[in-house]
Amino acid sequence: MPAVLIIQFLDFFQSFFSAYHVFVQVASHNFEKFLADKQIILHLLQMSLAEQILLPSGSEAVVPQPGEPQNLGDLSTAGQFSLVYWPHQCEVIRDRIEHIDWIPTNPEPLYTTTGLEMTPPYQTPDKGTTSVLLLPLPDKNSCFMYSQVKDLCPLKQILHQEGDNTLIFEARFESGNLQKVVKVNEFEYQLTLRTDLYTSRHTQWYYFQVSNTQAGMPYRFTIVNFTKRNSLYKRGLRPLLYSEADAKEHKVGWRRTGDDIKYYKTSVGQDGRQYFSLTWTFQFPYDQDTCYFAHCYPYTYSNLQEYLVAISKDPVKSRFCKIHILCHSLAGNTVYALTITNPPKSDKDTERKAVILTARVHPGETNSSWIMKGFLDYILGDSGKAQLLRDNFVFKVVPMLNPDGVIVGNHRCSLTGQDLNRKYKSNGKKFYPSIWYTRKMIKR
Ligand SMILES: [Zn+2]
Repeated sequence: MPAVLIIQFLDFFQSFFSAYHVFVQVASHNFEKFLADKQIILHLLQMSLAEQILLPSGSEAVVPQPGEPQNLGDLSTAGQFSLVYWPHQCEVIRDRIEHIDWIPTNPEPLYTTTGLEMTPPYQTPDKGTTSVLLLPLPDKNSCFMYSQVKDLCPLKQILHQEGDNTLIFEARFESGNLQKVVKVNEFEYQLTLRTDLYTSRHTQWYYFQVSNTQAGMPYRFTIVNFTKRNSLYKRGLRPLLYSEADAKEHKVGWRRTGDDIKYYKTSVGQDGRQYFSLTWTFQFPYDQDTCYFAHCYPYTYSNLQEYLVAISKDPVKSRFCKIHILCHSLAGNTVYALTITNPPKSDKDTERKAVILTARVHPGETNSSWIMKGFLDYILGDSGKAQLLRDNFVFKVVPMLNPDGVIVGNHRCSLTGQDLNRKYKSNGKKFYPSIWYTRKMIKR
């Protein structure tokens, strides 16, 4: 067994602080002994045994059975990557959401607390307020049944009247997350995030679209159902804004924005639980613009597939980067694995150490995908150091361990409603296929 180096890009600090878990360990000759001795590796294999969850009978027929790793070969060279599968309960708009790549010229601006920030109270929806968005919330006691490829174009939840300046919200797209919006005042909205599918927990990630904007008006958004006591929003983090008009006119992409930012206990505990609110004020740059807000720079499953297509079509990179199907997720989405190494130079050149990297076990931690992209840009590049690394190591990369969670806009879980980062010791091949096959890949 070759020595193994394993790195996991986790994250959990979303943001410009760019902190992330990186687990690095170099194995001794005996891999099994290494595992026993070192007990580090990713959190891998050291987690408690998983509880098995039971899917209702009949569901098995629609869950693709993960098979042996399959080389994409012709598939990838043809650029034919797989379709995106959604749980059947999810509504999805037809529009393809795309954002330009843009690197801000200055470091992200921090918000400095003044002590004068407002803390808008939680508004129960009956006090003269108007619901402007209300998406179906799958029952937390339900579970994943089957998936579909979506190309639906449902009507807006609330039909818009001409001359009405009420903002229009939308989140039924890849990685979108927003469940309910209540208009509290002319320019003030109270937002509720959708919990991870089939759970009643895990709200942190948000990503939604707003249209029918008015430039220069004093808008306030308050997200009322965060569950964590502490937040980087207490330390200067600002929400991200993306303006389609700014992207088109000025080639400006995602940027941190907002003032009067406050993260605080929600005044009324809904359903007996303590929630936390994030409130901020801002102005839209243009009238009748379509804008987006997000917790951290989005990186969707489709973004990953586009990136992999580009690699597979690159005559140089595709020589030393092979893209495989590691397995399929519960919903049937392809979990990709990459093998990166230069072709052997001689017959003796066969034993190379393996380096294993994984990212995006937690869907809301998009920064791990950006770190992974940075790594792949580097290791597939033509610098002397990258070539040397490819000459001496085999890099095994699983860039997105939890595609289903990423697609549906979860923060932490897969479609089992479980945290995959706690399932490395599980034998639940059927329920946690990406984890099971990654572990198998490491053992090989
Ligand atoms: Zn994490």
